[in-house]
Amino acid sequence: RVAYVNGRYLPHASAGVHIEDRGYQFADGVYEVCEVARGFIVDMRGHLDRLDRSLRELKIGWPMSRSALEVVIGEVVRRNRVKIGLVYLQVTRGVAGRDFLFPAGVRPSLVVTAKKVDPSVGAKRAENGIKVITVPENRWDRVDIKTVGLLPNVLAKEAARAAGAQEAWFVDRDGNVTEGGSSNAWIVTKDGVLVTRPADRGILRGITRTTLFKVAAKLGLKVEERAFTVAEAKAAREAFISSATTVATPVVAIDGEPIANGHPGSIVLSLRNAFFDVAEKRQA
Ligand code: PMP
Repeated sequence: RVAYVNGRYLPHASAGVHIEDRGYQFADGVYEVCEVARGFIVDMRGHLDRLDRSLRELKIGWPMSRSALEVVIGEVVRRNRVKIGLVYLQVTRGVAGRDFLFPAGVRPSLVVTAKKVDPSVGAKRAENGIKVITVPENRWDRVDIKTVGLLPNVLAKEAARAAGAQEAWFVDRDGNVTEGGSSNAWIVTKDGVLVTRPADRGILRGITRTTLFKVAAKLGLKVEERAFTVAEAKAAREAFISSATTVATPVVAIDGEPIANGHPGSIVLSLRNAFFDVAEKRQA
């Protein structure tokens, strides 16, 4: 495997950034994950638009031009021969002696990696559905920025695994689901309406979530952007998660209680099946 690090393509196993990188010391950086499917990078424009927003919110500069970054992403995918898998990109404020204040004259660090993913894993999860647990929302209030500060997400997903589940849904003080540890949360009402939380605050505006709005429109499905409670989710017709890595994956149990008949819903599977056609595709 090959990784791109600050201007060079290096063997993945020996690629590294300096110990005083601010990503390492302060989680002072942002990232993106794009899906690669059938040799295409999916929704790259949306991911780079969101990267731009994350960088601006943190006053980190672009490590190179957007068009140059697009070239690097394609190159990393090709050099790793990824047809089905993921691209990961991370930009941190850069390397500087440890000091909370922004360093002057430092170049942002850029890492781009790509890896193959076994498609049978996602297919199996789509077929069987996944289980989620709920955990109290304990993150900061700028989770709309895609920072590498993911410790609450790590702990929540580890708690899910310990409970025999595959994802954790954060629940705010009003009892509403915000989002998953690494995904957006959705339900389908008895009337077949898709419900997902508004992305103006309290969640990351998922790129997959935005594309699923288009998929829903194409399938003639109604979407409501509003908060929903855990109780409403447990009583829903269907529930599912969305992310670049999971696309749309059915949830069949919440905190050990089955959703509907405990099998994946038909609406989420129709969204999943129509996703690739609707998404933006860039040949790697
Ligand atoms: N919320 C969180 C907290 C995430 O980590 C992710 C995955 N990056 C998402 C939502 C889904 O975003 P996307 O569809 O852009 O992958």
